Amino acid sequence: MVQNEIDSVKHSADVVVIGGGVIGLTIARALAQRNAGDICLIERGSIGHEASFAAAGMLAPQAEANSQDEFFRLASRSRDLYTGFAASLQEETGIDVELDTTGTLYLALTYHDLVEIEKRYEWQTAAGLAVEKLTQSQAQQLEPCISSSVLAALRFPLDVQVENRRLLSALTNSVTQLGVSIVTGTNVESLKIEKDRITGVQTSRGFISCPSVVIAAGTWSSFIRLTPTGEKPALVIEPVRGQMISFDARPQLTRHVIYSPRGYIVPRRDGRLLAGSTSEHAGFAKEVTGGGISTILKNGEEIAPSISALPIVDTWAGLRPCAPDNLPVLGPCDEIGGLFYATGHYRNGILLAPVTGELIAEAVVAGVTSPLLGPFSPSRFDLVRA
Ligand SMILES: Cc1cc2nc3c(=O)[nH]c(=O)nc-3n(C[C@H](O)[C@H](O)[C@H](O)COP(=O)(O)OP(=O)(O)OC[C@H]3O[C@@H](n4cnc5c(N)ncnc54)[C@H](O)[C@@H]3O)c2cc1C
Repeated sequence: MVQNEIDSVKHSADVVVIGGGVIGLTIARALAQRNAGDICLIERGSIGHEASFAAAGMLAPQAEANSQDEFFRLASRSRDLYTGFAASLQEETGIDVELDTTGTLYLALTYHDLVEIEKRYEWQTAAGLAVEKLTQSQAQQLEPCISSSVLAALRFPLDVQVENRRLLSALTNSVTQLGVSIVTGTNVESLKIEKDRITGVQTSRGFISCPSVVIAAGTWSSFIRLTPTGEKPALVIEPVRGQMISFDARPQLTRHVIYSPRGYIVPRRDGRLLAGSTSEHAGFAKEVTGGGISTILKNGEEIAPSISALPIVDTWAGLRPCAPDNLPVLGPCDEIGGLFYATGHYRNGILLAPVTGELIAEAVVAGVTSPLLGPFSPSRFDLVRA
């Protein structure tokens, strides 16, 4: 990865972004594009090696949505930004993030699944969204790998996928070109607050004074202390572990991303087929377990029985950042001037990256909080203990 890494920590910046995952990188880029001044992105380990690296890259707001709520609107807006986002990254960096627009299939494999997809089809067609209903034979004709147990399927032509690891490389390259300083191997320990305003961050390698800070530290966001009180913020972001398997599938088994209510498979251009995932409350342990792998295999084989014959080339796990209500935490902190949150993206951080970048940068630079962010405001939690 190309990096504008600096050896010694700066003493001051206009904006400090904490966290070098897809969210921190996208925000840093959007800030630099708005000439937000001297931007410093601080990463504890190395850039893009946590949840954002572990993800499957599905950009699928429709596939699992049960209603047209505020989250659905935010997620759909972000998906619709992806075409321009991917094109501008390619233009700037030469890196193709492999935005694949084949679409997503959602299978009903039990009668209960059938009831669910029927409801989804009804509300989405009534709302004028793009969705197609397929019979068993139509689904199997489209993707012959699909199990003969399939009862019916939905096709979401606008739910797509991106190669999230290439996306991380492109973003890193872009922010470097835009002049963002990237400091790796440096932990932000606390925020300095004076008269209810941010005045800087204390890192493991020194103090940086700054008037604005964006917390984009994923599942570790609640470890950053507030000084002078030394309190951890009352908002707790919890890790939810997800395990993944990568198969060698050459020739590729499917062109579409295929979901069931229990699992998914995602074809990649280089011949890998990803299968996921688990949802486990296992603390900060990132191990791959026998139980996790067998669950993913079972659910993957339910979708496409032939995956059982494919060689496994890799397995991994990542920690999804999850807020108490499972929704993202986005926007300015009302109690502390200059502090912004962009965390809790849980299962949808890759999908939500473009909209998060745009709206958080707008809030930092112009002081304007989009109404789209309203329902996700950090002020729905008690951020600072009284
Ligand atoms: C198995 C799996 C599959 C997934 N699939 C999808 C998918 O298909 N589609 C989708 O949209 N989303 C998916 N997700 C969710 C998505 O990966 C996350 O929501 C997203 O990556 C969160 O991005 P982030 O930048 O907030 O967090 P991270 O990528 O975890 O980045 C946070 C960074 O902050 C750094 N950091 C933490 N604390 C500090 C500190 N104090 N100082 C400095 N740096 C710090 C960390 O080292 C880390 O690099 C999946 C997740 C998993 C685990």
